[in-house]
Amino acid sequence: MNTPTFSNYINGEWVAVSKTFENRNPANTDEVVGLFAKGTAADMTSAVEAAGAAFPAWSAMPGPARGAILFKAADILDKQFDQLGTEMTREEGKTLPEAKGEVRRAINIFRYFGSEGSRLPGLLVPSERERVHMFAIRKPIGVVGLITPWNFPIAIPAWKLAPALVCGNTVVIKPASAAPLSAWRIVEALHQAGIPKGVVNFVAGSGSELGHAMVQAPALKAISFTGSCEIGNWLHGEASKRRLRIQLEMGGKNPTIVLADADFNSAVENVVNASFFSTGQKCTATSRAIVEDAIYDKFVDAVVARTSKLKIGDGMKAGIEIGPAVDEAAMNGILKYIDIATKEIGAPKCGGKRLTGEGFDKGFFVEPTVFADVKESNTIAQEEIFGPVLAIMRAKDFEDAMRIANNIPFGLSSSIQTTNLSRAFEYIYRSEAGLLTVNLPSAGVEYQLPFGGTKESSFGPKEQGPAALDFYSDYKTVYLKY
Ligand code: NAP
Repeated sequence: MNTPTFSNYINGEWVAVSKTFENRNPANTDEVVGLFAKGTAADMTSAVEAAGAAFPAWSAMPGPARGAILFKAADILDKQFDQLGTEMTREEGKTLPEAKGEVRRAINIFRYFGSEGSRLPGLLVPSERERVHMFAIRKPIGVVGLITPWNFPIAIPAWKLAPALVCGNTVVIKPASAAPLSAWRIVEALHQAGIPKGVVNFVAGSGSELGHAMVQAPALKAISFTGSCEIGNWLHGEASKRRLRIQLEMGGKNPTIVLADADFNSAVENVVNASFFSTGQKCTATSRAIVEDAIYDKFVDAVVARTSKLKIGDGMKAGIEIGPAVDEAAMNGILKYIDIATKEIGAPKCGGKRLTGEGFDKGFFVEPTVFADVKESNTIAQEEIFGPVLAIMRAKDFEDAMRIANNIPFGLSSSIQTTNLSRAFEYIYRSEAGLLTVNLPSAGVEYQLPFGGTKESSFGPKEQGPAALDFYSDYKTVYLKY
């Protein structure tokens, strides 16, 4: 079978391809999922210019008409549902049910924000003065650059593209090189849905080259970035020099507190699910389980027993629960942290190795790994690993668990397992994370509410839900005497 080639999309045209890069299946590196055009700095500059030229007409179009294009794109994606799930598993490695769940979410996001086109709520309040009518309307901000990671290759592009477009902005999206196909499919659907030329532009290629070109492009007004703290913080510095609006969603070191009064079995399931599903490559994954002393030993044994039973392999196969790391660099990063932890703490309670042999040799499979008796000073209690490695930590009591949970620079997601209502509320009010769950895994969010972290995990307005409009639009305030 010929390997398909995927072009960049600039000003409504699929651009002729010169150089390409490979998108390989991390479960089987013999398989090239696609060849992608390697965009240049000049491509990025043209894309931002095209978006700038398209902005006046797109922003003047009635919101419901913009929404109708999003609905149409959602219908097109829906017709490709099975194909999109398969493609995502092949490019990113997550299991087919997880990939299909994410495709469903992306379609729902397009419909949710499509309907927002008929609302785009402003503000209308009574004036203190007689015969003065005062209100504020939402206006788009202009050309927005969207930079996305590989771990949710369709949901994250969807939750940036849909609100940006419905608010009346024009965009350039730069997808992650490790998994660009899912984002490309959204752009293809928008093209087929009849989006006017220049409104959406897609440029794949080196993050560093395209990132520099994007942040310097004169017509750019804002950047929404999801990825590592290192790149996000660099972008923030560059964007600030030009006073670009910027939104950053970055790393985490997310805790799950397990209290002695928790429903024990469900707490074990929730911690294993949040730590290892999607190979631990969710920004909201649990990487620290903070367990109350009274149930600590029993909990460690139960988590290790459950983890040892997880089925690892090619996510296309039925029954597989954990796929590979996304690429060799990601796998080596995970193995490096396992090595550091083994030196600092001792051998893991389970896992710890790259899987080899039939079905594994051509992929980047790492055993789900549990370290117990992890101290706050240990490296794996402080740094994001972004892989299937769980640190279990002992807490004296609820207060101690709260302190450990908050005592890190990150603040993305956090969870508590308890049947005590007062403790649950105490946790809700005192947790320093932006996204909290109670008696659920720390990962697994919906699109109807704001999403994002605090502290060094995030910067700027939240994504998703009604809050998404706050980044992608500005108020224009009007006082009118009649
Ligand atoms: P990454 O290396 O920072 O890459 C993210 C995106 O930035 C990719 O598209 C990448 O392109 C691009 N990029 C690289 N260098 C750049 C530069 N100099 N300027 C502009 N863009 C540049 O992160 P990742 O490894 O893909 O994703 C994993 C990280 O994302 C983790 O830290 C995870 O916690 C975080 N994450 C956070 C959230 C959240 O909502 N908080 C959600 C998902 C993931 P290339 O692929 O071409 O390098």
